[in-house]
Amino acid sequence: MTDFSNEIAVLKDITLEYVDAADLDRYRKIFDIQIAGFNALDQLDASASPCLPEHREFTRGVPLIRQAVLEIDAPWATGQLYRMGELLYGLDVSEDQFKADLKEQLVRAGWDLNGLLVWAAYGRNNEFSRKFSDLLDLDSEDLRVWVRESIRPWYWKLADLQTDPVKYEEWSHGYCPICGNSPVIAVLKEEEGFRFLSCNMCNFSWRTHRLRCGVCGNTDEKKLRYLFTEHESPHRAHVCDGCKSYLLTIDTRKWKFERRIYPRIEHIVMLFLDALAQREGFTSSPVEH
Ligand SMILES: [Zn+2]
Ligand SMILES: [Zn+2]
Repeated sequence: MTDFSNEIAVLKDITLEYVDAADLDRYRKIFDIQIAGFNALDQLDASASPCLPEHREFTRGVPLIRQAVLEIDAPWATGQLYRMGELLYGLDVSEDQFKADLKEQLVRAGWDLNGLLVWAAYGRNNEFSRKFSDLLDLDSEDLRVWVRESIRPWYWKLADLQTDPVKYEEWSHGYCPICGNSPVIAVLKEEEGFRFLSCNMCNFSWRTHRLRCGVCGNTDEKKLRYLFTEHESPHRAHVCDGCKSYLLTIDTRKWKFERRIYPRIEHIVMLFLDALAQREGFTSSPVEH
């Protein structure tokens, strides 16, 4: 079970001068709703709870969660959407009214709830997402952030159900073995410089090649390098000149004190590096599979 109390403490530990306290404070409120949602999953019936089916294609590089069969409990998900909507958009209707409105808007867009939830984690924009966001008077990407942040605890739970690390030792792909999403950060650990990727959606972390671009597979050392602002900083952007992609990276060997890594928080800490990498012409590409 993930120890969330430690992860909240991380927020207080971060005192780096380049971190915007307002960004952390904003995310902390999102985090609180996610923790409550995560804990609520334990109250669901076994039939409605997250579960991870095994399938044969895993050894051929197909992640465990197959989008086509992913079903998220509807009452739990709409409750999360309501609370996240209150925070992000100041919804001022009752929860029952919100659920009724959501249902009606989905019907008008010709969509369904599960379609919306799966799209938020995986889908490209399509006629449903465009129509639905128009009905809500929201930008498509704002809609995606709202839904993704609301249902993220479901993915945490799925990753938490994994108790067999051996199974992932052979996973050498640049995308998550659990849910197939791209990494949000890489983490370098220990003197040998082991490199781990942390999933953008479910937080699962898996070991990978130290000198290999996760997007294009490039292993040419001359085309892989770091961008960073301060030599002693543990935070940097790992860039590939082959495909012009970048991945934010933490070198824990440069840490002044030990602390647990919570990838979403680390990403907020490193937002300045996002801007730096993009200014240099690199993009944060999703890893295709
Ligand atoms: Zn994942
Ligand atoms: Zn590359």
